[in-house]
Amino acid sequence: MTTHGTGSTVAGGTDDHSAQTSSVATKRASGQLLEAHNITAGYRGRAAIEDISINVGHGEAVGIIGHNGAGKTTLLNTMFGAIEPMKGEISFQGKPMPANRQTNIRAGLAIVPADRFVFASLTVKENLQIARRNARDAAAADSAEEASEKLFPVVWERQKQLAGSLSGGERRMLSIAMSLMWQPELLLLDEPTVGLAPALAERVFDALKALADDRGMSILCVEQSLHHLLRVVDRVYIIRNGRLIGEETAASLVQRTDYWDLF
Ligand code: ATP
Repeated sequence: MTTHGTGSTVAGGTDDHSAQTSSVATKRASGQLLEAHNITAGYRGRAAIEDISINVGHGEAVGIIGHNGAGKTTLLNTMFGAIEPMKGEISFQGKPMPANRQTNIRAGLAIVPADRFVFASLTVKENLQIARRNARDAAAADSAEEASEKLFPVVWERQKQLAGSLSGGERRMLSIAMSLMWQPELLLLDEPTVGLAPALAERVFDALKALADDRGMSILCVEQSLHHLLRVVDRVYIIRNGRLIGEETAASLVQRTDYWDLF
């Protein structure tokens, strides 16, 4: 387990502490894609997250966990540039990142928000056609479509169906497929399994695992279900009351017998 200088630590830990720390250090040594230092951000001048520093390496998958209202969505939206931090700096690919979504999408970020973003009154095909406009060019769009067809055959078979009539899980898969049109270097996801039946949640995380393992896509994922999250991520940040209270490798988290101190 690694802790941060916020004054708090996460209790627990295992005997192979040094091995976990060195594994985190090895990942970091391979270079950072996203780096955020001492971020404070919130709404109407009131901080919802304070003094948070996180990073995501090239090809790394990282989770964010915490109780309801801890500040996870605020942190993710700040990383995307949808919320301007009151304090702190964010850099992406080594360059300062402005609080501007369009600039950040062009730089290689994409987000799948919690509120399943699809156009309900349009068909699956029409949703994908709209998303194609976000692609760099036709070849990039074709390649993203090819990847999505393999990842989400269930959705692909329903091209003519209205997106609003898809199941929650299918809509979630469609929104991930749409985000892939941006050809992101780093995919941000906000609770991809919220409201999904276990089998569908499993399929969504199968797709994320394939994106991370086979395509080397970097992932930063807020998720309540540790069971799903730990199949995909290398390490996890723990947020409590707007502050980062710790960081733990997936390898150490799977060995835990309880999680009470994390929330
Ligand atoms: P959950 O797991 O319930 O989705 P979360 O960890 O994602 O919660 P946030 O949604 O980031 O937490 O909320 C952090 C704090 O900021 C909460 O106190 C919330 O009420 C507040 N907050 C979130 N969105 C807004 C907003 N648009 N305006 C004002 N306050 C907000």
